[in-house]
Amino acid sequence: MSQILIIYTGGTIGMMSDPKTKVLRPINFEQIMENVPELEKLNCKIKVHSFEEIIDSSNMNPAIWSELALLIKENYDSVDGVVILHGSDTMAFTASVLSFMLENLAKPIIFTGSQLPISAIRTDAKENLMTAIEIAKAKKNDRARVPEVCIYFDYKLFRGNRAFKYNSSKFEAFRSPNYPILAESGVHLKFNINDIRQPADAPFKIHRKLVNDVAVLKLYPGISQKVVETILGADVRGIVMETFGAGNTTTDKWFTDLLKNAINSGKVILDISQCKVGTVELGRYETSKELKDMGITNGYDMTYEAAITKMMFLLGQYEEPLIIKEMLETDLRGELTVS
Ligand code: ASP
Repeated sequence: MSQILIIYTGGTIGMMSDPKTKVLRPINFEQIMENVPELEKLNCKIKVHSFEEIIDSSNMNPAIWSELALLIKENYDSVDGVVILHGSDTMAFTASVLSFMLENLAKPIIFTGSQLPISAIRTDAKENLMTAIEIAKAKKNDRARVPEVCIYFDYKLFRGNRAFKYNSSKFEAFRSPNYPILAESGVHLKFNINDIRQPADAPFKIHRKLVNDVAVLKLYPGISQKVVETILGADVRGIVMETFGAGNTTTDKWFTDLLKNAINSGKVILDISQCKVGTVELGRYETSKELKDMGITNGYDMTYEAAITKMMFLLGQYEEPLIIKEMLETDLRGELTVS
């Protein structure tokens, strides 16, 4: 019989509306189980780990990410898969960071949650939870069908580091426009075998060190020198720069000089696009040629969530800016497509 570990961190899935204030607050896992008697009918053994402090995922942080990685490591050999119940607001960050922290993963780690609490009559939580468990235990020839960190939501399975929350009111909360979905649930559970990563033949290991010395520079026409100076001058080692279109920025001299100074002072500047679909192509336009020449890092088609967490992960692993740049531009866990 399959063994599944459910880790409950919080989120709307396990919230209840306070009868007096009507504010949504987290409840404990036993109360969740009461709402899903179907769990008993699943042909698997479920072990539950509930975090001591159940949170709205807006309070997620690197210390909890590190705890999650450790928990997975401690249970890795004894389970077939893991389901993590997590608020949808920051689910894509947690799924992304775990994809980097877990190396040579050969078992499914499936994040899910819901837009309505599990106790609500029209809830989307039950389908999300039940199918996430089905996916976590799915095997073919004794091997996990999806040995990846994924997000399952509203009938679709996404690669975790390719997805982002794009809708706060529809059940279809996530999208992954730069990478195909890994599976779809309907009458049958259909896996897109060709798009699922296969594990390397190497021992599973975790990396728990994350460094949050990261700032974000989101460009807009008219951004002032003092704002750019403040962000690039912040006491951080990595900057995620959200640029226009295919990775373009203004060519104003004050701006490119500030970028050069930041790089010369040892900062790594990662260029990702504000567009949700498509990729950064440094050097395609005149407005990005200079960026390429000065040593700006190409983020290709990475999501914002993957870019931030990959930076935190690599800052924790390496000191040398050029190595961090090289690793950022390398596909580590299926998070980017080098074009
Ligand atoms: N605010 C909630 C959270 O992220 C929303 C959700 O679960 O969907 O924890």
